[in-house]
Amino acid sequence: MSKSYNPHEEILRIVDQAAALLGLEKRDYIQLKSPERELKVSVPVRMDDGSIQVFEGYRVQHSGVRGPYKGGTRYHQNVDMDEVKALAAAMTFKCAVVDIPYGGGKGGITVDATKLSKAELERLTRKYTTLLYPIVGPHIDIPAPDVNTNDEVMAWFMDTYSILNGQLTLAVVTGKPVPLGGSLGRSEATGRGIMLTAREIARKVGLDLKGARVAVQGAGNVGGTAARFLHREGCQVVAISDVSGAVYKEDGLDIEEIWSFLRAERGRLLKDYDAPGLSRISNTELLQLQVDILVPAALENAITAENAPHIKAQIVLEGANGPTTADADNILAERGITVVPDILTNAGGVVVSYFEWLQNLQSVKWEEDEINRKLEYTMVKAFHDVWNMAEQAGTSLRMGAYMLALDRIVTASKLRGVTF
Ligand code: NAD
Repeated sequence: MSKSYNPHEEILRIVDQAAALLGLEKRDYIQLKSPERELKVSVPVRMDDGSIQVFEGYRVQHSGVRGPYKGGTRYHQNVDMDEVKALAAAMTFKCAVVDIPYGGGKGGITVDATKLSKAELERLTRKYTTLLYPIVGPHIDIPAPDVNTNDEVMAWFMDTYSILNGQLTLAVVTGKPVPLGGSLGRSEATGRGIMLTAREIARKVGLDLKGARVAVQGAGNVGGTAARFLHREGCQVVAISDVSGAVYKEDGLDIEEIWSFLRAERGRLLKDYDAPGLSRISNTELLQLQVDILVPAALENAITAENAPHIKAQIVLEGANGPTTADADNILAERGITVVPDILTNAGGVVVSYFEWLQNLQSVKWEEDEINRKLEYTMVKAFHDVWNMAEQAGTSLRMGAYMLALDRIVTASKLRGVTF
């Protein structure tokens, strides 16, 4: 997954194309070309051996036109300002696609989280929170989990913010543990949303999900959960991978067993999982398997101009943010492969984050059935809104999604007006 590709510039290019198709003038959307606010912080952490290490952290607030900034927090060695800017912009468009009243933001720290102890991660998170304190808040900017962050990290964030704020402030982050203001259904929401999107696109292209062969890149919150839900729908998940490589089984993997294995201990990897009839393949081989559905759910730039000509899936469901480069996207389109874009496919997480935030603000708790029903309604509606837009404009689903979102953002922006 090369870093030479600039995902932020790529999103801006798609936005220009979407604007042209909508007949917008530059002045209508020029403010979306750069984030409203970019914060870079130095985060000093006392390590377990007594030394001090300083990590670079970021928070980018892309657009607050439709509501408070909203977006995850990533801990990864490749995090930099360009990546965070791209992810923040994608959040603005994602929230507009599913029509929830949020803008877009994103944060991250350049750190290999696997090399830190739990105590070091906690100190890192708490210090990062104090540095972000002036610019986040329940009605300002609401972080959430992303790569290598989870409900525990969100609990530390919320606790630190609450101490500084002088009162328990549950609504400052989403993706918290359920006993601490988290929402039922949140940890599975992105994966559930991917399954719902799979169901809708399968109906459109005439693919029966029962027995459909699926390969999933990434076995974390998004990939692992998507694999479980697709398996429950009757799909045969023949391959799944993580940073250590992929496992493959011709007649389908035992996804629940793999999930339990990986979740049993922090840092567990697929290279240590074994089962009868299982073979090991590389992440590159996984992408090129003869399957019906491919779900890239790890990091950006997984599908490139190099491997796109070899992809054999009929449908690519983008579980990760930005997994397909622009060149690869063109190649897949020429080859008749349907790509369902990230800002639609993986929006289930932010939708249930919105539900969590609503529950926190009102001090209520919704039943899981109600949450799943509302999630399904939102995802299915968004899917059809995107499909119809793409069909009317005679364009790809990605362009349809960006057109739909851009139209909603620009409409809101015009109604607000530019006052200064
Ligand atoms: P995670 O940290 O839970 O899991 C990431 C997975 O990707 C792990 O299995 C990891 O080993 C694997 N991975 C990392 N580098 C890899 C590589 N080079 N090759 C193959 N696998 C690799 O993260 P997550 O929350 O599942 O996020 C995955 C993607 O989904 C990211 O793009 C994220 O921005 C996006 N996303 C996450 C959410 C959410 O709710 N967590 C919501 C929407 C989108």
